Order: sequence, then C-alpha cells, then structure tokens
Amino acid sequence: MDEKERLLQDLVSLAKRRGFIYQGSEIYGGLAGIYDYGPLGVELRHNIKQYFWDSFIRDREDVYGMSAAILMPERVWEASGHTEGLTDPLVECKRCNERVRADQQEAIADHEKKHKKEKVEWTDPRVFNLLVETHLGASKKSASKVYLRGEITQGVHVNFKNIIDSMHPKLPFGIGQIGKAFRNEITPRDFLFRQREFEQMELQYYIRPEEKEGRTQFEYWKKFSLDWYYGLGFKKESLRLRQHAEDERAHYAKDAWDIEYHTPFAGWKEAWGIHHRGDWDLRRHSEFSKVDLSYRDETTGEKFIPWDIECSGGVDRAVLFALLEAYTEDKLGGEKRVYLKLSPRIAPVKAAVFPLLRNKETLVKKARGIYENLKKEIPGVMWDDNGNIGKRYRRQDEIGTPFCITIDFDTLEDDTVTVRDRDTGAQTRVKTGELASYLSEHMV
Ligand code: ATP
Repeated sequence: MDEKERLLQDLVSLAKRRGFIYQGSEIYGGLAGIYDYGPLGVELRHNIKQYFWDSFIRDREDVYGMSAAILMPERVWEASGHTEGLTDPLVECKRCNERVRADQQEAIADHEKKHKKEKVEWTDPRVFNLLVETHLGASKKSASKVYLRGEITQGVHVNFKNIIDSMHPKLPFGIGQIGKAFRNEITPRDFLFRQREFEQMELQYYIRPEEKEGRTQFEYWKKFSLDWYYGLGFKKESLRLRQHAEDERAHYAKDAWDIEYHTPFAGWKEAWGIHHRGDWDLRRHSEFSKVDLSYRDETTGEKFIPWDIECSGGVDRAVLFALLEAYTEDKLGGEKRVYLKLSPRIAPVKAAVFPLLRNKETLVKKARGIYENLKKEIPGVMWDDNGNIGKRYRRQDEIGTPFCITIDFDTLEDDTVTVRDRDTGAQTRVKTGELASYLSEHMV
C-alpha cells in the first residue's frame, strides 16, 4: 500500500474505531458502496446539512425548502433524460477501472494503448443504467415499476407548479432540498466518495430566461458555493473551481463548473457542481406530464419557462473531504498524536466536560452541574469520565472536539475550570459563569 492509500485507510479505520462510519451491513460481509453512520458521524453529517440548510435556505428570503419522496415513476426519469441517457453497454478495464463503450472498438484500442505493454483485461459487457429500480404493489408488472431517485433535483422540478401556486414567489427564487439519491455505480470506491446510496444537498434557482441574467446569477452562485464550502474549514489551496469541457457536460447543461477538493489519494476530485440547466427540466416535464410549467409574471403578464441555475453537492463527499482535511498527525508534548482538526462549526462534539477524578463525589457533582448548564447553551456538549485525563484528551482529539473542560479541586475553591484547546494543547482557566461565552467566542 503506498503512502496515499495509507492515509485513506488510516482515516477509514479511525472513522470505524471512533464511531463515525461503518461499512453497511458489515456483520453480513458488507455491501459494496453502502455505508452506515455511527453516533459521531451522524452528528458531523447533521452539522454539515444544517449549515447548508441555514445558508442556502433558511437565512434567505428568496429560497424555499422542501422534501420530495425518494420513489418516483419511470416517466419522471424519461422526461429528465436519465433512462435514455444511461443505458450503454460498458466494459471496465480491470487495471484502472476506466469504463468504455463495449460497442466502440476504437475506444477499446485507444484505452489499451494507454497501458502500453501491460496486458489489459476487461470485464464482460453489461448494459448499464445508473438508476436503481424497484416495484410497488403486489405484482411485478411493468406498470408498478418505480425508481429510487438518481438525483434529488427532479423532485424539485416536478413540484415547481405546486410551489408557485402555494407560495406565489417572484423571480428570481430558489427551492432547496437535502435527501438521499441512489446510483448503481459499477465501481463504488474510495470510501464515501463513490457510493451507491448517498445524500445530496441542492438548490435549484429559477431566473428569467435571459443570457445576461443567466451569467450574473451563475457567477453569483459559483462564488456563494465556494465561500460556503470554505466555511466547512478548508484551507484556500485545498479547493478549486474548474469549468467542465464541452464534451464533459451533462445533457442538460449550458455551462457547468465543479468545486474540486485536492484529495491525498487521487488528486483533484469533484465535491460540488454548479450547473446552468437552462429550461431543460421544466420544459421536458411540461412536455411529458402535459402540465404547463411556465411562470407568469404578474406585473407584465409575460409567460415563460424560467431557467435554472443549480448548486448540487454531495453530503457524504463533504463529510469525507472534511475528514480528510482535518486528519492531522503531529507531536504534542513530545508525544505523537492523531487528531481531527475539524472546524467547530461541524465538529460532532463542541466541548467535553470531565471531572478530574471520576470517583470523587464532590468533583463529579460540580462537573455534572457545569455540564448540565453548558449543554443548555451550547448544543453538542459531551460528558466524559472514562479513563484518565490523558486518555480522555487523546480520545477527544481523535474525534475532533475543539475544547475539553476539566473540573478539578481548584474549581471547588474559585469556581474556575481548565479549558484545553485541541489544536495547541494550551490550557486556560475560565470562570464557570463565563464558560459559555468564552466557548462561543472561540468557536468561530
Ligand atoms: P461524478 O462525476 O463524480 O460521478 P456527477 O457529476 O455524476 O459526479 P452530479 O450528478 O453532479 O455528480 O451530483 C452532484 C453531487 O452529488 C456531486 O458533486 C457529488 O458530490 C455527489 N455524488 C454524485 N454521485 C455520487 C456518488 N456515487 N457517491 C457519493 N456522492 C455522489
């Protein structure tokens, strides 16, 4: 295993050991491309989603939130182009996992040239559709066929009319959503990077169908998305924006950019997309559903199909990239340690409260009181009295807790506690009455 793979493997084992992420159905041998979130992982993921929900939806007057169902009929995916667009026969190179069309000999020959003298073996061809299908009702007749959504986007577009009719928004306005999506990826890999069941967070922002407005809004949402991603705690040099080449763009896109993260295991990888979808989705759903999805401007009386600027991010990829970015090996007090330098905004535990000794009743009682009060003011405070102080620090460092608060014998005398900073190990005495404001100030 080379150094790059080792880093990912170390993170995978930390994630398991510390209750972040487990292989799905592990005791039955695991299910490829499927992961379960443990007690700390689910908090981390929740914090990322909450930050998205606040920034893209709740804090804005021009965006509504919604939550569409996972199951949608085949017609939706015919309209969106997903059933048609993703049914090529594919073979996969067993050396590098690249897939090419089985019916294109030139593509196969070109690929084999890339490997020079190495012998290339291919998997058997298979007709490939990313959509995961299932059936509803008692019979397996085709009429009952439904798909687990391949992207959450379509759930918003099919509700466009409902939102217009119930909320009467003025253009431009957006609809945001977070939810699960499913893709039958041939080669799920790289931990949470390419899964078969994953979560997306998205905004569809509807605008007047005008080139200039399209440009302005597109630039605005590119910057907004990148700033938001930096807010998860990434260093400047860890992220970049990259425009899709014309032949790389999805069938619906007039323009597309990705926010990419520089992964230690495979270089720059997509974290988030900003897509100019034009009127593709609403026009197609109007045609396929026979329901008019145009927008009527109440002041001018004009009727038109709006354009859509989409911001689309993977929740699990944000979790993975935030963990990779945070994973740090250093030396503290002459000892090697591994810790997660997570931004306090997304850290699963914001502060851990300990009594210096777990069997000294006076200390435990005092510490319990401080813990109960603090937890009312700062969500995500944890009680920890397991093992000695050194062990607690190491454990909290490994799960990325920004602050540890120790209640010792001095606390009983002067009502101050020790606050230890995760990154530097520095310890400060703080009055218990000022603890919540001290933490809030240092948590930005
Ligand atoms: P990729 O090229 O990596 O397959 P994509 O371009 O197909 O991704 P989109 O359809 O634009 O991805 O989906 C939006 C976001 O959803 C992506 O930026 C990514 O963060 C996330 N995503 C897509 N596919 C997966 C997957 N299989 N596992 C985890 N996250 C995914």
